[in-house]
Amino acid sequence: MKGTKTYPKGGVHPPDSKSRSEHKALKNALIPQILTVPLAQHLGKPAEIAVQVGDEVREGTLLGKSSGFISAPVHSPVPGKVKEIRDVYLGNGLKSPAVIIEMEGEFDRSGKEQERHDWRGLSGEELLQLISESGIVGLGGATFPTHVKFSIPKGKKAELFVVNGVECEPYLTIDHRLMLEKTDELLEGVEIIQKIIQPERIAVGIEENKPDAIEVMEKRISERGMNIEVVPLELKYPQGDEKLLIKAITGQEVPSGGLPIDIGAVVSNAGTVYSIYEAVVFRKPLIERFVTVSGGAIKDPSNLKVRIGTSIGDLIEECGGFSEVPEKIVVGGPMTGTAVYDLDTPVIKGTSGVLALTSKEVKSSRRTACLSCGRCIEACPMGLNPTILFKLVDHLKYDESLDNGLMDCRECGSCGFVCPARIPLVQGFKLGKRMARKKKG
Ligand code: SF4
Ligand code: SF4
Repeated sequence: MKGTKTYPKGGVHPPDSKSRSEHKALKNALIPQILTVPLAQHLGKPAEIAVQVGDEVREGTLLGKSSGFISAPVHSPVPGKVKEIRDVYLGNGLKSPAVIIEMEGEFDRSGKEQERHDWRGLSGEELLQLISESGIVGLGGATFPTHVKFSIPKGKKAELFVVNGVECEPYLTIDHRLMLEKTDELLEGVEIIQKIIQPERIAVGIEENKPDAIEVMEKRISERGMNIEVVPLELKYPQGDEKLLIKAITGQEVPSGGLPIDIGAVVSNAGTVYSIYEAVVFRKPLIERFVTVSGGAIKDPSNLKVRIGTSIGDLIEECGGFSEVPEKIVVGGPMTGTAVYDLDTPVIKGTSGVLALTSKEVKSSRRTACLSCGRCIEACPMGLNPTILFKLVDHLKYDESLDNGLMDCRECGSCGFVCPARIPLVQGFKLGKRMARKKKG
């Protein structure tokens, strides 16, 4: 595709593996009888429990209150009864208290005509409050509370708003389907955001492997008379990283340790924009999200709208089960997701995919010593030296690893993807960051 943009340094080209699900229309997943709803589903402080065992809940009842500025409330995805409150393990390996709900009773929303609320008369502050109360967080995987991102600090201004429709992780196809099937809803979501942060310029970044989405978005933007630029981007991983996306679109760099707003930019993933539309237009809290279920070991890959708290085992079963014994089950995409071993792992707000990968799809050669080949350095889009960083973290030299840019690592997995020695570089960097933060206090 002519005129595509990208960031200048590094990046890799994993096979995109989207062909088995990219043509599958979005559909509602079956709702299970038992749902496990964790309270730590977002970046920041976990929600504070707001129910007790035995309580009856409705679809959308508050289960957990926001417990600070960087926090988000959690709502019941179904009507039913609180059966139990206990700790569970999440797809990212962390532990969280969770509310176990047994579904019973009538749904207030599902299967019923939804009342549309006219939001155009509301102020930016009132819209922001609705987003905050609805528990909206970044659905691209970062799970940063959206009301915090949209609270522009004093002295700063949102000059550019970017809808992130890149979806550069292999296998994942939900944002692609959203842009094709929910175009108007997404664009109304953008209008809501426009009213809150009042950017001077709005862009939608889409990778060139989704020409149909580029076409549909351009057509509807022009028909609605909106001033939004669709920016086709070169197919290169991790194009969807927000700092690299801004670099590709504007040529500007977010400073080391800084945030996009430091250079006047705000980025939200397409799925997040859709949830904002639902929260504001239908006053619907974030109780479900879209998930791609795919991988070579899944019989019938699909793009499903899933209630938070549904187990990944239920989703796999709904997609026909396994066609062969998977080598690895991953929650999220294959580059940044986490391997899980328990099919009871619940879908949470940050779960973009559930992948069952065959041995052919998983590189499983044994780890060896570093070959000093330099491939990881070439692949790093942030210009870091992953081999040196890993050695520093491995030798517990956290201060030195910080001096070498550890905090600038985007945890994109490009270095690990090209490493012939199969060194678990990203896992090392994630651990290193946690330890460095702990040391700092
Ligand atoms: S994971 Fe970090 S070090 Fe590795 S390529 Fe990505 S940004 Fe660079
Ligand atoms: S790619 Fe792997 S083997 Fe090569 S220098 Fe980096 S860490 Fe070492």
